[in-house]
Formats: sequence, C-alpha cells, structure tokens
Amino acid sequence: MLLFRKRKSLGLESERKQLPDGLWYKCDKCGEILYRAQLERNLWVCPKCGYHFRIGALKYKEIMLDNGDFDEEIAPNLESLDPLDFPDYKAKIEKSQRKTGLKEAAIAGVGHMGGKKVVMFITDFGFMGGSMGSVVGEKFYRAAQKAIELGIPLVAITASGGGARMHEGIISLMQMVKTSLAALELEEAGIPYIVVLTHPTMGGVMASFASLGDVLIAEPEALLGFAGPRVIRDTIRQELPKGFQRSEFLLEHGMIDMVVPRTELKENIVKILDILEGNKENGQS
Ligand SMILES: [Zn+2]
Repeated sequence: MLLFRKRKSLGLESERKQLPDGLWYKCDKCGEILYRAQLERNLWVCPKCGYHFRIGALKYKEIMLDNGDFDEEIAPNLESLDPLDFPDYKAKIEKSQRKTGLKEAAIAGVGHMGGKKVVMFITDFGFMGGSMGSVVGEKFYRAAQKAIELGIPLVAITASGGGARMHEGIISLMQMVKTSLAALELEEAGIPYIVVLTHPTMGGVMASFASLGDVLIAEPEALLGFAGPRVIRDTIRQELPKGFQRSEFLLEHGMIDMVVPRTELKENIVKILDILEGNKENGQS
C-alpha cells in the first residue's frame, strides 16, 4: 500500500496504465471513459481534457518518423553488463526487456521527419524508469556522432524518472559527463539539437543531455527537474508553488522554450528544423 501511495503522489501511473491492452480506458485526469481506437488516433492524448497517457519509445518512433521507423538503427544490440555485480540487476534488465520489447532504456537511429533526415534518440520510462546506465549514455554518444558525421539534426525524446542508474554506480554517473560532452560536440559542429521532454524527465538525465538542447520542448504537465518536488519540499521545509516543476511552470520561468501537445509535436519540430536550416543557408548561426 505504501508503495502504491508513493507512486500515486509522484504522479506516476501504475504499470497497468503504462502498457494498456484493454478496449476502454479511464482518463486519469478527467475520468472520461475512452475507447482505445479513439485514444490511438489521438496519439494517447485524452480528447476531452488533453491528459497525456504515457507511451513508450517504440510508439514515439512510430508517431514522429515518416515511415514510423528508423531507416537505420544505431547500436540496436548493445546491452548493459553488470559491472558491479549488483544484486538482481540482470534479472531487472531481463524483466524490462520482456515488458518493453527493447534491449535497453533507449533506442536511436536515422530516419525522416517531414522529409528531413534526422537522427532520433528516445528513452523509455518502462525500461527501469528510463534510467541512464552505460548503454543509454553510449547510444546517445553514438547518435550525436552520427548526426555530426551526416551533418543532420539530432532530435532526442526523453522519459526518465530515475536519472542515473544506481545499479551501475559511478559508471552510470559518468554518462552525464559523456552525454554532456556529446551535446557540446554537436554545438561545435553546428548541428541542431532538439529535445522533447516528456513526463517524467528527472535526475541525471535532466541534469545532462536532456537540458542541453538548442530548443527545449516539453509535453504539457510533464514533471521535469533534478530532485523531485517532495524531496525539495522536505529539504527546504516549505510548501512549493502550484504546478512546481511542471512544463508550464518551467516555461513561465524561462527554463524551457515551448510546451507542445503530443499531437502537434512533429509539425512543430519540422517547422523548427526548417527555420534552423534557413538560418544556416543564410550564414547565420
Ligand atoms: Zn481526460
């Protein structure tokens, strides 16, 4: 019961709601009963109140890329080792693999958006909370290198409740440095880097590559930050303002550039890429 209450208070849905497989769904926010096909058509956004149901990396890939898939996947078979011999780590990886159909908490590849060639990198909350271990870091690094090699933009979509993955200890924390350097290399090479922050993006992921994009876009009402609101509240012993660390609050305070509903994400990213391309042709940076 305690665990259930804890998850609820963080605004994280249960596993059942993450991986919907029934015909009817009740919206967590407005309580509307929705038909699966209707939700699917609306990219898992409640047509009544705009609540964004959680979707996984494979779904984002499908809705964002022109053919619904990569033309070429980057390092598809990389799997985490267990460098610290951490209790139950291997079993947890295997469980996440079965649950998500992914090898690790991130996928990356080359594809097209609105006819434009891009590298896309996506993390999946369903795989150990989307936490960043050595494979997630390495995949981001390779995605950035691919974007530089091909001279095309990098689009990253993040969902990571856990930040760094404690099961890999310091190796996991080192991925913050590695991915931050990869983002710096993108900047030095003049490669556009766009980040889409989805609910939740926290900890070491938010504190490294997820906050280093040229343009930071967030889905509505996503929880985004380093430490969670409850930790901050208990540390400073003060009530936090309404909507603290949610997308809209961060937009208002200048931490992100745009809040865009999932149904309009692709067209907006294509528009931004158009503008950035235009600037490049005109010799501006
Ligand atoms: Zn709703």
